[in-house]
Amino acid sequence: MVSRVIPVDPFDLVIFGGTGDLARRKILPGLFRRHCAGQMPETAQVIGAARSDMDSAAYRQMVRDAIHEFDGERPDDCPDLAGFLERLHYVAVDAQGEGGWQELKDLLRKNTVKAFYFSVAPSLFGDIAERLKNKGLARRDARIVLEKPFGRDLDSAKALNKTLATYFHEDQIYRIDHYLGKETVQNLMAVRFGNMLFEPLWNSQYVDHIQITVAETVGVGGRGGYYDKSGAMRDMVQNHLMQLLCLIAMEPPSRFEPDAVRDEKLKVIRALEPVQTQDIVRGQYAADGDQPSYRDDAEDPRSTTECFVAMKCHISNWRWAGTPFYLRTGKRLKERTSEIAVVFKETPHSIFDADAGRHRNILIIHLQPKEGMELGVTIKEPGPGGMRLVDVPLDMSFSDALGPDAEDVPDAYERLIMDVIRGNQTLFMRGDEVEAAWAWTDPIIEGWEERGEVPKLYDAGSTGPEDALMLMHRDGRKWREIRS
Ligand code: NAP
Repeated sequence: MVSRVIPVDPFDLVIFGGTGDLARRKILPGLFRRHCAGQMPETAQVIGAARSDMDSAAYRQMVRDAIHEFDGERPDDCPDLAGFLERLHYVAVDAQGEGGWQELKDLLRKNTVKAFYFSVAPSLFGDIAERLKNKGLARRDARIVLEKPFGRDLDSAKALNKTLATYFHEDQIYRIDHYLGKETVQNLMAVRFGNMLFEPLWNSQYVDHIQITVAETVGVGGRGGYYDKSGAMRDMVQNHLMQLLCLIAMEPPSRFEPDAVRDEKLKVIRALEPVQTQDIVRGQYAADGDQPSYRDDAEDPRSTTECFVAMKCHISNWRWAGTPFYLRTGKRLKERTSEIAVVFKETPHSIFDADAGRHRNILIIHLQPKEGMELGVTIKEPGPGGMRLVDVPLDMSFSDALGPDAEDVPDAYERLIMDVIRGNQTLFMRGDEVEAAWAWTDPIIEGWEERGEVPKLYDAGSTGPEDALMLMHRDGRKWREIRS
């Protein structure tokens, strides 16, 4: 199978924060891969913009080093690193000052698409948007790309939306949640809405519960001070986990088009019931030998910020009434893994002996480290000895079915940047979605603050606090094992 590369219109992409960690680790190596795939038109150019004083030659050297550092073996697969570097320019621009803006304007060619990636601290979003407008760069067809976090509560998200709306229309604003750019996340929609098989079963009559897990092995060391002002609820649940929840739970949109999909996601968020205090567990990892505890990493011995959350949510609508959604995310856990598990109910009656046991089908959507899907089906255990049942995975890994090209799918950032260039907002969050997500999370966070609640300690390398296990045990269910 040969993967199809759909050409995009010639574009100028400006990366504000073009010298930062995200640009060097994800955005620029991703663009290099698109160049290698032949997706970049001849005149397309990428302009790094930040305050540091350097010329384009020094910037190209920085990007060359970043590609070697963060793109593994890939630079050798694509011999045209020099061709990619020629597309790069650098302008020293201060988001809060006047210097550099005219030079930036002069650099922007007559390429059809103009996109501005705000890979800077959110406190600079308003300054950049304002200057783009004042310098005549915010044309009606320009696009801006915003990194998370989008606000830290409902009020700040509303204020940011309002500021951006002063200079740009909603159809020009691309709020990135890189989870939505993952191949498997889109495959989830293909599986749900491209097959007859699953949709009739996709409701509380057949689904016992759904688990969404995003587990990390790393702690917050190095950026503990920053993280401590945020916590797992703001950093992970309000955006990534809620987006996954929306895609799993939403009604079929009438078309796979931006507003049709985002309208359905919004309805899910608005149908989420408030979470009961007893249905949520927060945690912090404890010290492990010479490894620091969360509080050591946060440099605050009394920090009450959580780096682990497990919770049970309910969606009040016809499809999901009675089916709980269990969400869990945390740092310094046993393995790095992200998955969604749709656990179906048992058959209403077993025709087999009690020894055969009771079994359930589980659809598992693996997001990382490897992407793919697995459907657990019950079959007879081979061999003599009567009818003993066993669960086996029907593996739907893309590489097995689609060949080596399936391994070579663009990563989330590559795909999302190309979607910006194409002007397709389907996989980006709309302003009202972000606000609705904060409206749901704010009372939970406020409740913790009012009660002065202290997170439970858990062992580094474990599956989280004991209470998180109890959250499911109480309901006669259990978490899937955390394994990559
Ligand atoms: P970073 O490493 O601190 O980089 C910040 C960038 O902004 C640098 O290029 C810096 O360059 C530039 N900058 C700072 N002040 C500026 C100003 N006044 N005018 C123009 N440029 C300025 O941050 P990052 O990790 O790349 O993160 C960037 C954004 O992405 C943040 O909003 C972050 O929350 C988000 N994000 C990052 C990651 C990640 O993995 N890193 C993941 C998700 C989201 P100069 O100092 O030279 O100006």
